[in-house]
Amino acid sequence: MAAAASERHVDLLLIGGGLASATAAEEIRKRDANGSIVLVSNEPQRPYNRPPLSKEYLRGEINDEGVYGNGGIYVHEPGWHDEHQVELLRGEAVVLDPAAKTVRLADGQTLTYGKLLLAMGGRPRALDVPNANLPGIHYLRTVADSGAIRNELDQPGKRVVFVGSGFIGLETAANSLFRHAQVTIVEPQERPWPTMLPPALSQYIADQYQRRGATLQYQHSVTGFTAGENGRIAGVQIAPVGDSAATESETIACDLAILGVGIMLNSELAQHAGLEVDPHQGVVVNDHLQSSAPDIYAAGDIAAYPDPVVGRMHFEHWDNAITTGQTAAANMTGGDESYRHVPYFFSDQFDLVINMLGYPTNTAHVTIKGSIAQDEFTAYFVEDGILRGAMMVNDDAKMDQLRELIAEAVLVPDTHALIDPNFDLASLRPSTAQNEPAQPVAVEESSRDNAS
Ligand SMILES: Cc1cc2nc3c(=O)[nH]c(=O)nc-3n(C[C@H](O)[C@H](O)[C@H](O)COP(=O)(O)OP(=O)(O)OC[C@H]3O[C@@H](n4cnc5c(N)ncnc54)[C@H](O)[C@@H]3O)c2cc1C
Repeated sequence: MAAAASERHVDLLLIGGGLASATAAEEIRKRDANGSIVLVSNEPQRPYNRPPLSKEYLRGEINDEGVYGNGGIYVHEPGWHDEHQVELLRGEAVVLDPAAKTVRLADGQTLTYGKLLLAMGGRPRALDVPNANLPGIHYLRTVADSGAIRNELDQPGKRVVFVGSGFIGLETAANSLFRHAQVTIVEPQERPWPTMLPPALSQYIADQYQRRGATLQYQHSVTGFTAGENGRIAGVQIAPVGDSAATESETIACDLAILGVGIMLNSELAQHAGLEVDPHQGVVVNDHLQSSAPDIYAAGDIAAYPDPVVGRMHFEHWDNAITTGQTAAANMTGGDESYRHVPYFFSDQFDLVINMLGYPTNTAHVTIKGSIAQDEFTAYFVEDGILRGAMMVNDDAKMDQLRELIAEAVLVPDTHALIDPNFDLASLRPSTAQNEPAQPVAVEESSRDNAS
């Protein structure tokens, strides 16, 4: 059907200007030389990578000119889009009509599509407490956010309070310490990443910060912010929660605060269009990353896909944006690909390169190979006798092999054998494994340092 005069037709329309969309554009063009591709983004920059925003970019080591891995943050070189006939359209998608196959932008223009990708990612979750909008209170999602924090840290000795100790918050705290700031971390939970790690590994992470002078206020929640005479933030009010030993509320004096309390998925466009949306997980898609509406796919943070191990999930990480973007693109161009991927993310903190694979949980039996004291180890997570995950700290030589073994859900007959640095992981493969699955047992906390 021909488009109405006020409408423009696009064969492959991508909503969202992040890594998932950019990866999908690249993959589509590899598979379809001629289809028109338009990528709609409400950010002023062309698609960029967010991981350096809490790392190299924040430290001032790279700028926002080159591509990621080559001194910058971008996904593609500036000329790439013209060369590959991918149109970047600055705009905000405000109405999706799946029946008419149209997307209306805030400026009034309407695009009709053949296939549509939703990759709108997320925005920082705001803290709903008094004075949460004072100058000097920062969130970190965009290059502008990172630049603003970088400027604030220009002088040494700044007193920075971090609210939340997720990966992004901790990385930012590590790099604030690097910039000689005085760091306090406030977190309502009892320890770092408590659902994923056993206490010993949480302690390992916490130690890294304490050792470098940070003050950790776990089991405390923020109740508000106070302003100084200049109208900027001057303090963070906190109160003990859970079974914290502290009883008193207090105010931490500070020059700035950085809030990292998770993200809200930008799924409203899909929800208002009547697509199936899980309020916590995002746009519900099948294993082909296809939504409940014909010809509409989702990728990146916002895609809630069926995972073979944990069921419906979404994953807010860099690798997930790339791999879901690729699979969605394949299926949007006539492919028939199931999304089957072992979850993976990385985090760089101080001199630790942390790689997390699979499904680490605090209920797993954890066996550690290597040395925690020397910051070089792999923690294997075995649940019900099955290898489910791995945390690698400065120890990623076996990552590809581990990814395959986790994908195959191999049995681990003897978890203790994993401690041996010469243990042949390939022997876990079904063709070579001879034993019954190991029984799950409590986490071996004593295995913190078993290098010898
Ligand atoms: C500071 C920071 C550090 C990180 N570090 C790591 C790390 O070390 N390791 C790791 O694995 N992961 C990391 N991540 C996570 C990773 O960057 C994200 O998972 C990834 O960016 C998700 O990509 P996406 O394309 O799905 O979404 P996004 O990157 O959020 O992109 C979505 C885009 O769509 C735009 N948009 C939204 N709504 C609309 C609309 N209606 N119309 C038009 N455009 C719209 C948004 O403005 C945005 O540009 C980090 C994230 C941040 C913020």
